[in-house]
Amino acid sequence: MMQPRVILRILATCGRRPLRVAVLLLCLTALSTLVSAREPASKKVPLPGPSDAPVKTVKVPQPADFKSTHFLLHTDLPSKEAHDLLNRLETMLKLIANYWGHPPLGTIECYVVKDLSCWPEGVLPAQGRAKIQQGAGVTLVETLNRGNQTVAAKAVVYATADHGTPQHEAVHAYCGQTFGKTGPLWYSEGMAEMGQYWHPGDASVRCPDYMIKYIRSVPPKPLAEILAEDGMPRPGKQAAFSGDSWQNYAWRWALCHLLENNPNYAPRFRLLGAGFLIGSHVGFDEAFGAMRDEIAFEYRFFLRHMDAGYRVDLCSWDWKRKFNRSSGETPKVARVAANRGWQATGALVSPDRSYEFSASGTWQLSKGGADLSADGQSDGAGRLEGVILNDFKLSQPFALSSYGKFAPPTEGKLYLRCADKWHELADNKGGMTVKLKLAGVGPKLGKPTGKADEPTDEPEPEPDNATAKAD
Ligand SMILES: [Zn+2]
Repeated sequence: MMQPRVILRILATCGRRPLRVAVLLLCLTALSTLVSAREPASKKVPLPGPSDAPVKTVKVPQPADFKSTHFLLHTDLPSKEAHDLLNRLETMLKLIANYWGHPPLGTIECYVVKDLSCWPEGVLPAQGRAKIQQGAGVTLVETLNRGNQTVAAKAVVYATADHGTPQHEAVHAYCGQTFGKTGPLWYSEGMAEMGQYWHPGDASVRCPDYMIKYIRSVPPKPLAEILAEDGMPRPGKQAAFSGDSWQNYAWRWALCHLLENNPNYAPRFRLLGAGFLIGSHVGFDEAFGAMRDEIAFEYRFFLRHMDAGYRVDLCSWDWKRKFNRSSGETPKVARVAANRGWQATGALVSPDRSYEFSASGTWQLSKGGADLSADGQSDGAGRLEGVILNDFKLSQPFALSSYGKFAPPTEGKLYLRCADKWHELADNKGGMTVKLKLAGVGPKLGKPTGKADEPTDEPEPEPDNATAKAD
């Protein structure tokens, strides 16, 4: 009979914060030393009085235990902060347990440290103390295995109280303790980063500014490189490891955020992730092989336009819409919502032809904002604009208006949108019904009205995004 084996695994996160945080802290420390050095020495005036006056002592916070439904927290945080942290952890746990479809098993034990000097030697294991000293965290998962099967698992988190590290580590702890696995490294760390920024009912980008600035300032890390960071060594290449760099964490987060929030990929990504956690052998290529080009395109698009508040779900591309050339007299009709990204018109256009358009309706650039026509404001915001997609390459966007003609800059599929900052689409309201046809063929399009008509031809396809495929 097979003997059960106990395995200790380390899920570490270190160095995933920018160096400048540490540098800043050093500067502040240096500054405070400077300030205190400049303070005039206090003049000691001996006062008459009893020599046994109580000596003023500074109270050093002692680590204490706090409990909630699913967590046991050992921390030197003040009681209110400890309870606030437990609330945040419970909220996040509810979200992720719901996401992965399994209630948490057992109590998750966390050591969360504000000031390491309050913790006597020996209370924290060496790995935990070392990570906390680096301003990071580590999750140690001990599993009891029989063959490949995990019989039981126990996860313990050691984390600094800062930077959302306890939330990040608690995602690892939930996965480790509930499933005995956390998935390939890019997935495990990407999802743990997401755990920090998850808010109920809020799919917007909420990661820190330094991550956004970094991602937008460097060439996109190729998808294949992120996916190869699964923790397995490859010929001539060292295995990627947890806690390698905050920049690597930023890319892993970006990929997971995109796949989790984009309705084209979210259902399949969830299945893939659930498979990782139960030890299925289905990999990324098996799950997404047929959509690889679409994902690569939407990944690059996301990285180019993301900012705090950006909504992947609102900016997803409709890969199922059929496109064809205008047959002449019958106009194509497209509905363009103000709160979405580029929207498919179904019109395949050529640069050697010109096209008439007429956009009826109104939209607003904020809740309660002024009604605008597709001419938009004088600064260009709220104007109808177009772009051509050809073989996963985009033309430069070009301005349209409520009525007129345009000649496409290149051949391809025409997409339209309401011009607005990419991360401020969510509060837009209203939409346009845009009619399009070849210029000079058949009767001219009528002038637009303030009312958006319902589209009459080419109804929108039923959403079935899990099987989306470019045509
Ligand atoms: Zn981690």
